[in-house]
Amino acid sequence: MSKNLMMTGFMVCLCFSFRPTIDTNPLWHEQKIKNYLPHMTSPDVSELLKKTDMVIIPIPALEQHGKHLPIGTDFLNGVERAKLVAQKTDVLVAPVLMVGQSPYHMGFAGTISLSSNTIVEVYFEAVQSLIQHGFKRFLILNSHGGNRAISIFLVDRINQETSGIAVELGEAASTLSKPRSSSSTSANEKKVFDRHGGINETSSSLYLIPNLVQMDKAEQAKLTLPAHMESMIPEVLEGDAATNLVFLAEGLKSKETGKKTSAAEMSSTGVWGIGDLSTATADRGRAETERFVSAAVLFIDKWKKLRPINAR
Ligand SMILES: [Zn+2]
Repeated sequence: MSKNLMMTGFMVCLCFSFRPTIDTNPLWHEQKIKNYLPHMTSPDVSELLKKTDMVIIPIPALEQHGKHLPIGTDFLNGVERAKLVAQKTDVLVAPVLMVGQSPYHMGFAGTISLSSNTIVEVYFEAVQSLIQHGFKRFLILNSHGGNRAISIFLVDRINQETSGIAVELGEAASTLSKPRSSSSTSANEKKVFDRHGGINETSSSLYLIPNLVQMDKAEQAKLTLPAHMESMIPEVLEGDAATNLVFLAEGLKSKETGKKTSAAEMSSTGVWGIGDLSTATADRGRAETERFVSAAVLFIDKWKKLRPINAR
């Protein structure tokens, strides 16, 4: 090696070793996600408005999810699903609140709950802001059972009281979703009572937010339902629609109602299910997520065809 070349190499090394390290937030690991409002600039939004007038608004919750899933499970999973949809077809993803209606989870530390009136009002005003910017169609994505009626009411308020047009995205996607594959749920698993924080939700979380799931903390819940509700479970599992309606009308309600069906009154861990949590897998969560995402994309693309962006 020539003396010059050695000298150059030495200088390059010096340059690298003395380059000042830039101190940025060590906790920040997010990448800019396409069509995700919190990451976008105002010009990005204006550009997107040339391609679409559609917005997905997640309706999540901040509530206990047993000993192994984070308080933010419904918020995080809902937003992640929405982001995945928005990578496949142009639509804005606009999270507005993290908190939902969860009074029946208040017996476990960390849960935050807002009243249904407050929640609807906040989203309604957010939708009015988005309409001012030129958005027209709203896909309300509920990711928490306790927000079901709120989501339906919000959809109706948008349709009845504004120039916007809204649908609930879960319901919309279900019109076009493929039947569940046999690999995502085995025949035996279908017969197990598995609701809040159970195998399904744990599997989705293992796929969507893997490093926030603590499987080593997962614990089998001991359930103590009122006797008449306990006796409904076999029919609920058989898919009896009338029994299911009655079961859910009474189940998971706040302690203050006196129904003895709040999460803390019915479950030792906060999980409302007796499935074996160790059978939850990221693969099952992936299958469910992909099933939803592809159906949601099919629906959105169909709506884009049914009603072109500049339709009057
Ligand atoms: Zn949940």
